[in-house]
Amino acid sequence: MEFIEYMQASGHEELAVWTDPANGVKAFIAIHDRTLGPSLGGTRIWPHPSDEDAIMDVLRLSRAMTYKSAAAGLNLGGGKGLIVADPRTDKTEAMFRSYGRFVESLGGRYVTTEDVGANAQNMVWIAEETPHVVGLPEELGGSGNPAGMTGFGVFQGMRACAEAAWGSDSLEGRRVAIQGFGNAASSLAAHLVEAGAELIVTDIHDDALQRAAGLPRTSLVAPDAIYDAECDVFAPCALGGVLNEATLPRLRCQVVCGAANNQLATPEDAQRLVERGIVYAPDFIANAGGVTNVYFEIGQPYDREGARAHTATIYDTMQRVLAIADAEGITTAEAANRLAEERLTAARGHAVLDSR
Ligand code: NAD
Repeated sequence: MEFIEYMQASGHEELAVWTDPANGVKAFIAIHDRTLGPSLGGTRIWPHPSDEDAIMDVLRLSRAMTYKSAAAGLNLGGGKGLIVADPRTDKTEAMFRSYGRFVESLGGRYVTTEDVGANAQNMVWIAEETPHVVGLPEELGGSGNPAGMTGFGVFQGMRACAEAAWGSDSLEGRRVAIQGFGNAASSLAAHLVEAGAELIVTDIHDDALQRAAGLPRTSLVAPDAIYDAECDVFAPCALGGVLNEATLPRLRCQVVCGAANNQLATPEDAQRLVERGIVYAPDFIANAGGVTNVYFEIGQPYDREGARAHTATIYDTMQRVLAIADAEGITTAEAANRLAEERLTAARGHAVLDSR
């Protein structure tokens, strides 16, 4: 029962299990911490080879959501859902309706949205059974695809890093190497082009490269060549784990700031970035625009302007993280964790006072 020890050590509140073989559902929902509000995190559809793998994945992901929302100044806790299934072959309306009843059974302690393997239609099916779902299509009053806001937030974080690296937050004339040109990167690129940056783009799919090729001041490179690209900023916008022992010595940038989750392969890689003199924007600070977007859909008509204004504060949050790292002599990754923990501790203190 390794996972129970992990839950105790990392302060998880709850792990819920749902089985409904008739509808092809085996699902888990992890609630890490609700100090700041209801737990929120996407539902991932993934065919994990074992229940242990699935459970550890959903537990780790729910904890990461607590930190992301706390640092972003949102009144949300951390949660995550997981349906153990192959998203290419197994998804049905019956599956998502059953899963919606699972979400409903938690009484609002967990609010779900999209994650890897899920799409907006799947959220519509979940919404047939529970109101505790966000990220619905815009035509249904929802906030739609969050990637546009994610890209806007990464752009704000990058500006703050530019200030730290070069004394000006302007990205005009800066060369930004973007790894992966999907939804979030496309939005980021639009802001960068508008700001006068030059782009170096890679992707493993031709259609993505074709879209990038149409942008001004943009060149394309092969997927592996992106690590060697002469640039000012490296923006990982595809996979996790790309900042590692093998890739870090190759980077020729002064800032790393992108949308991808879990960019550091190990905690030591944050220190390796410091040793290379590279300003690292912690991923969960930079990419919080997506969760911010769905936050502004909870319990109300979606408020796009509110979401955009809050996402713009990623600039200030990033500055605070960089300042904490500087003052305390710690990595920016540690500083980001500290910022989130301080907010949680302050809120827990209030909770104690309130209950007296
Ligand atoms: P996406 O699937 O739209 O785009 C990912 C792109 O990366 C695809 O075009 C894919 O072909 C490309 N890619 C995959 N492997 C690659 C490789 N080895 N080299 C180069 N390109 C590669 O995904 P997205 O929604 O844009 O998300 C990108 C990253 O940002 C993910 O890590 C995601 O978890 C994270 N993120 C996204 C959001 C959001 O709102 N979309 C929010 C927070 C975090």
